[in-house]
Amino acid sequence: MATRSEYATRPRERIAGVLRGARRFFSAAEVHRELTAQHVRVALSTVYRTLEHLREKGEATIRVDDTGEATYMFCEPAQHHHHAICNGCGRVEDVDCSAVEQFADSLRNLHGFLLDAHTMEFYGRCAACR
Ligand SMILES: [Zn+2]
Ligand SMILES: [Zn+2]
Ligand SMILES: [Zn+2]
Repeated sequence: MATRSEYATRPRERIAGVLRGARRFFSAAEVHRELTAQHVRVALSTVYRTLEHLREKGEATIRVDDTGEATYMFCEPAQHHHHAICNGCGRVEDVDCSAVEQFADSLRNLHGFLLDAHTMEFYGRCAACR
C-alpha cells in the first residue's frame, strides 16, 4: 500500500517521466494530454507548478516560443550546451558548440566585450525528417 508521501510525489514523477520520454520540448498542456492518455489524473495547474519546480531544480530546461508559450524539456543539467531543434518533429539534439565559445573569445579580444551569458538555438531537420 502506498504511503501518504508516495501519493504526494507521484504526479511529479509522472510529469518528469513524460519529459524524459522524448527529446523535445513539451508545453504544460501537452504534458497534461500525455498523462490523461496514460490515465493519470492530475490538474493542469499541478502540471504547470511541477514543471516550474523541475526547472528550479535544474532538471528541466525552459524555452519560451514566439507566441510566449513556455515549453519544458528534460536536459542533462550541469553542462553548457546548445540545442538543434527539428522543425519537422520537434526532436532536440544537444550540441556541443565550441565555435560559439570561440566567438565569445573573439568578442572579448576584438571588442573588449565580456560575455556573461548567451543562448543560441539551431533550427532545421533531423536525420529522420530530412
Ligand atoms: Zn539540452
Ligand atoms: Zn554556448
Ligand atoms: Zn525531425
